[in-house]
Amino acid sequence: MSEVRFVQVSKEFEDNNKGKFMAVKNADFTIRDKEFMVFVGPSGCGKTTSLRMIAGLERQTSGDIYIGDRIVNKAHPKDRDIAMVFQDYALYPHMTIRENMSFGLKNLKRPKSEIDEKVTEAARILSLETLLDRKPRELSGGQRQRVAVGRAIVRNPKVFLFDEPLSNLDAKLRVQMRIELSELHKRLGATIVYVTHDQVEAMTLGTRIVVMNQGEIQQIDTPEELYKNPKNMFVAGFIGSPPMNFVKGRLEGNTIQTAEHVFFVPEHMLSTYKAYQGKEVTLGIRPEDILNLEQLTVQPAHNIIEPVIKVVEHLGSEFLVYFSIGEETIVAKFNADYPVKAFTKQQLYVNMDKMTLFDPETQFRIS
Ligand code: ATP
Repeated sequence: MSEVRFVQVSKEFEDNNKGKFMAVKNADFTIRDKEFMVFVGPSGCGKTTSLRMIAGLERQTSGDIYIGDRIVNKAHPKDRDIAMVFQDYALYPHMTIRENMSFGLKNLKRPKSEIDEKVTEAARILSLETLLDRKPRELSGGQRQRVAVGRAIVRNPKVFLFDEPLSNLDAKLRVQMRIELSELHKRLGATIVYVTHDQVEAMTLGTRIVVMNQGEIQQIDTPEELYKNPKNMFVAGFIGSPPMNFVKGRLEGNTIQTAEHVFFVPEHMLSTYKAYQGKEVTLGIRPEDILNLEQLTVQPAHNIIEPVIKVVEHLGSEFLVYFSIGEETIVAKFNADYPVKAFTKQQLYVNMDKMTLFDPETQFRIS
């Protein structure tokens, strides 16, 4: 079993300016055997520190870490049965690719025949066979990245740890490597823990995702659940591209009254929001749930607005349209078949069936 478990794990750092501060607070979760778990969150939220604690490169201040059924709190990195792939790949420049990939096993004093067999197999899986006698500088960024993965594979670890491995690659190569990593995960059937600040990368790679902010875990869920049922405004605002729009309002009967509009709440949702009648709420609407009225075949009875479009951004097959509700800037994502122009009034339909309501004070989703 290649589970990784955190039990009430915290990490405190001493900082010259800030004094003591908690980089990771009471993290409590299980990464299941064979899972591709992605840690995501803004810079400084504690995701790399979490990964480094699994690797044993950082010692937790309190709590227990398990790999498999073994507590590894004090275990040296090399005794944890993990392999880490770093952002800069950390390849040895003077060694060939074959030597780079063999290095870890040589250190473990494994027989040459076994090393050769494993390196050949990893090179085959990663399409590196023809590059084995080259030096790292003779490889492209994507190929180097593959070597770094190959070096991890030959060790056949319980858990693979990846720290932003694609961040040095250009956008096109990143997409290609994402597909390769996904396929690799399926082929190896390995447990993978992966850190990124890029939510698109997290959503496409993770079987589950840990969303972190300021040292605290906000939510652990599948990509679909995070998107459909974010627990709080942070997760709703972080997952999705562009992120969810927020509009302040008040729940009055079956309506939400905002600065400029009255939105009607679907009947079947009202019971969920009973406790908030007459109170302030924050309405969350995803950009894709605001539609150009022209693209609807049936004219809706409610929830039509007619703002002045401020900016239109073309993305190819779709485009982003910006306008204001009160003081808030709202973004809608439209299909390119229904173009709109900036500085014109446009009738839009807000699909309230897809809305999310938040408590503005706690920032939690009302459910
Ligand atoms: P990034 O995406 O920028 O890499 P991150 O989410 O991975 O960010 P961490 O590297 O885990 O963030 O850092 C979490 C916090 O701990 C940050 O505020 C960072 O400055 C601080 N920190 C990390 N390592 C140390 C250290 N050795 N000493 C003091 N503070 C540290």
